[in-house]
Amino acid sequence: MFWGKLFLLAALISTVWMAKWNNLCAGRSQNQIRGYDKYGSGAYGAPRGKRVHRGVDVLCSDGSTVYAPFSGVIQSQAKPYGNGNAIDNGIRMTGRGNCVLIFYIKPKKYKGSIKKGDVLGQLLPMQRVYPGIQSHVHIQNCDRSNPTSNL
Ligand SMILES: [Zn+2]
Repeated sequence: MFWGKLFLLAALISTVWMAKWNNLCAGRSQNQIRGYDKYGSGAYGAPRGKRVHRGVDVLCSDGSTVYAPFSGVIQSQAKPYGNGNAIDNGIRMTGRGNCVLIFYIKPKKYKGSIKKGDVLGQLLPMQRVYPGIQSHVHIQNCDRSNPTSNL
């Protein structure tokens, strides 16, 4: 009896805390990770020159609607480069045990609550900055751990 109850409890906790994230990009049935193009790969841990890619790139066309991966709170604006280029925008959001940075979007807002699957914003014109790249949303855990299993 004890182990049965423990199992149910564990299953419940994992459902609440480790639930899969929502589709990030409109018009796609699932989150698809960017493969290799001339700029590299979108996988977690992929090399970026002497550095390492600490997020995952999820395919999305320029201008497409981007959805919230989980229910929570948008905390602030977060910029990937800080150089003011055409894709230098994004947000930081938390919720349900998650904390992520989401880059290359024009957010609908920079603060406040949001539900899983609600519109977060639109993908910025990535082709203008990286011609020929597989356009994508970059999602990264705040603690820089690997988010791939949530996708
Ligand atoms: Zn990336």
